[in-house]
Amino acid sequence: MQQLEALTQEARALAAGTLALTRPEAEVDRALQICNACRYCEGFCAVFPAMARRLEFGKADIHYLANLCHNCGACLHACQYAPPHEFAVNVPQAMAQVRGQTYADYAWPPGFGALYRRNGLTVAMALAAGLALFLALALLWKADALGRPLAGNFYAVFPHNLMVALFGGVFGWAVLALGLGVARFWRSITPGAAGAQAAAEAASDALRLKYLDGGHGEGCNDQDDRFTLWRRRFHHATFYGFMLCFASTGVATLYHYGLGLKAPYALTSWPVLLGTLGGIGLLAGPAGLLWLNWRRDPQHGDAAQRPMDRGFIGLLLLTSLSGLALLAWRDTGAMGLLLAVHLGVVMALFLTLPYGKFAHGLYRCAALLKWAVERRRPGKLGLGDD
Ligand code: SF4
Ligand code: SF4
Repeated sequence: MQQLEALTQEARALAAGTLALTRPEAEVDRALQICNACRYCEGFCAVFPAMARRLEFGKADIHYLANLCHNCGACLHACQYAPPHEFAVNVPQAMAQVRGQTYADYAWPPGFGALYRRNGLTVAMALAAGLALFLALALLWKADALGRPLAGNFYAVFPHNLMVALFGGVFGWAVLALGLGVARFWRSITPGAAGAQAAAEAASDALRLKYLDGGHGEGCNDQDDRFTLWRRRFHHATFYGFMLCFASTGVATLYHYGLGLKAPYALTSWPVLLGTLGGIGLLAGPAGLLWLNWRRDPQHGDAAQRPMDRGFIGLLLLTSLSGLALLAWRDTGAMGLLLAVHLGVVMALFLTLPYGKFAHGLYRCAALLKWAVERRRPGKLGLGDD
């Protein structure tokens, strides 16, 4: 049945003339044809065993494999055919270029995919708009509350319902746009039904960032041939910091609506403790990732995506910095201004979530799930199966 669906999709695409590979896709195809003959890197990550199940690479295969790649760099540093060899095999770079293309291709609404291509500008404009909105609201509406110590009462500057309406609306849009984009990607890579075991394995691989260990547990190649686990650690700090901040907001919502406990909360309360720990993770992780990004071997990634990478990391850093500053000075006259800046930055982060680097986590999870499903099935070639 699934094969029939895949064939129908292919026939439709053929009729529409949309099956031709783009230049980055053709480069992945070329590199993988060489890798499939070589297979030296089989143990590094899931890309190579998934590749070995195929002899040809259509668009959907290339999109899937590109998002399964974690850009650890191992296969470039191990490759005897890497530049300056005439074959010039550079799998991480080719995969990175296709990944960037897939975010734009599957974006919802489709026209918004262009925002990925100019993501540095998108982030800058969203930041300016977010800051302008909250500074203007504060100045025009509650100017008398600015400059006065308000004992940490944020709602004296921005009413609770206003914040819920603004952030709820933008966050809902981000979830919808990202969800529909990833659903389009999921359908195009024609996975089978995901059983509980496959789903648990994919979740475990994603939460542990298994494929940032280089296949041997010693980590990625970053600047050179040495291995390092720092990229994995900084990613973990960023992800779990983000989740703790999310949990803090969730608990605060429960306090507000469920228990009738209104903010400000004590420094030892769950919302503040979770938010503080999350803020520290979200400070250390992105700072480390930015440092690594600057030192990274330029052959690893797609230079055109640097503004997107750094823009997202920068927004995360500003979010945690402004949030921790707000906590530190919440009982002083600076609170109103700090709150406006923090909310402006968070608004920019939410606005750009569906059209920036954040998407890579979701596309990668979908590819990991497909791999967990696929490896449980007999391969069509009868070669290279688990
Ligand atoms: S990256 Fe190089 S060494 Fe690794 S499988 Fe491909 S061709 Fe072989
Ligand atoms: S860069 Fe790392 S994750 Fe990507 S294909 Fe090579 S070994 Fe696999």
